[in-house]
Amino acid sequence: MVGADVGRADLHIHTTASDGVLTPFEVVQEAAARHLKAVAITDHDSIAGIAGALQAAEAAGLEVVPGLELSCEDGEDELHILGYYVDHHHPGLQQNLELLRSARRERARRMVELLAELGMPIEWERILKIAGDTSALGRPHIAQALQQEGYVNSTNEAFDKYIGRNRPAYVPRYKVTPSGAIEMITAAKGLPVLAHPRGYEHVLPELVKAGLVGLEVYYPGYTLADSQALAELAKKHGLIPTGGTDFHGYGGFAAVGLGEVSVSLQSVERLQALAAARA
Ligand code: AMP
Ligand code: ZN
Ligand code: FE
Ligand code: FE
Repeated sequence: MVGADVGRADLHIHTTASDGVLTPFEVVQEAAARHLKAVAITDHDSIAGIAGALQAAEAAGLEVVPGLELSCEDGEDELHILGYYVDHHHPGLQQNLELLRSARRERARRMVELLAELGMPIEWERILKIAGDTSALGRPHIAQALQQEGYVNSTNEAFDKYIGRNRPAYVPRYKVTPSGAIEMITAAKGLPVLAHPRGYEHVLPELVKAGLVGLEVYYPGYTLADSQALAELAKKHGLIPTGGTDFHGYGGFAAVGLGEVSVSLQSVERLQALAAARA
């Protein structure tokens, strides 16, 4: 980095409040040990991890950005929108997220049924035990159950063979539209940012019109050239560049360590200033 290094931030992290392995407390401890200056907690359809992370942050001496990640319909495909500085006490947001989580539970049950039909019965209790406190049930929980039962050797294999998109036990889940997600986040005083945007560059103008304020420029697997192109695009649209690991804490998908992909703390300062200006 050129100039004064104000520190690094990992702004895309999942915890046990959704399908991550570490608790919010553990994420903050690990981030401090890795000398990060800020982390964003961005669980799928859940803001339940935020309070614990904020509490742990004080003692650990780092900044926690409250956030979440929503999956949206994009025709046949899906795109993900992160929301930073959402008000995690907002009743409307809580309600909307509970609807999304109940759709997740229904969908997980259906996937377990399909797996049983494929000759791989799993006790529902096992899924619940793996999921722990979260009500944001996801395919990673099912993948772990498949591995525990010995049906697969890794969670990756579970996705490749059975629960990945278009595999035999895959069930799509209810998703909001991109503009619906942006509205949901904005109504809760949050800042919508397009997650892992490579391949979705064409939808940017539309999302910007709907209220997008940032673009995830740094992400596992993105080359320097990818990130440079995305940074240019962010600049062009007046978007704040963000970045992070999409840390889940299990092997396979986006399997990098906490903070191994990061963004300058300057981006956090820009997000914070914008959130404050809107409050
Ligand atoms: P869900 O939200 O239940 O549809 O599950 C999506 C989550 O599954 C993502 O956030 C990743 O954590 C994980 N995931 C998706 N695809 C894969 C894959 N091919 N291998 C491993 N994990 C994956
Ligand atoms: Zn996930
Ligand atoms: Fe995502
Ligand atoms: Fe994610």
